[in-house]
Amino acid sequence: MEKNNGLLIVLSGPSGAGKGTICQEVLRQLPDIKYSVSATTRKSRPGEVDGTHYFFRSREEFQAMIKKDELLEWAEFCENFYGTPRFAVEQAIQSGMDVILEIEIQGALQIKKRFPQGVYVFVVPPSMSVLSERIHKRGTESEDVIQKRLETAERELEYVTEYDYVIVNDKLEKAVDKLKSILVAEKCRVKRK
Ligand code: 5GP
Repeated sequence: MEKNNGLLIVLSGPSGAGKGTICQEVLRQLPDIKYSVSATTRKSRPGEVDGTHYFFRSREEFQAMIKKDELLEWAEFCENFYGTPRFAVEQAIQSGMDVILEIEIQGALQIKKRFPQGVYVFVVPPSMSVLSERIHKRGTESEDVIQKRLETAERELEYVTEYDYVIVNDKLEKAVDKLKSILVAEKCRVKRK
């Protein structure tokens, strides 16, 4: 990555850890950061808008994106595919913009191989019981899916050492401040990895 390129920030962690909420709040406060809109084969939830929250695609459309090498990374998560469209991210970073990706761990590890100079932040819930409570409260998934997400979360927690920073998301405000502090520190960094 060249000196004047923007930062590539990868935020991941178990589903329900609150990374989406932290990310939205940081983007609200720092509107110059670009959010990378992912493609997914998951059905949209009420209130989600195609092109804003995700690019909602069929499995066939998603496969076609993979074939055409249009994704920087992709992964299967709880029976759906998720991937980061390459063009928007590369273009933004090359033009000096900071870009934030909110993705799960398999995808983050693929990105890390290609962009070791990125900033890798892992968000964890204060405990598994809080995680379960949050996913249930969200009310967007069936019990079956919730159980799968909780099992996946337990496995995912082991990957924390792959990341540069960890944020325990106890209180949203504090977690947001921590992420903003990380961004400030990374902007001031002299030595890149
Ligand atoms: P959800 O279905 O709750 O929106 O997302 C499920 C998981 O997929 C979350 O952990 C989310 O961060 C992750 N995810 C969202 N977009 C992408 C992406 O482009 N690539 C990968 N690998 N994971 C993603």
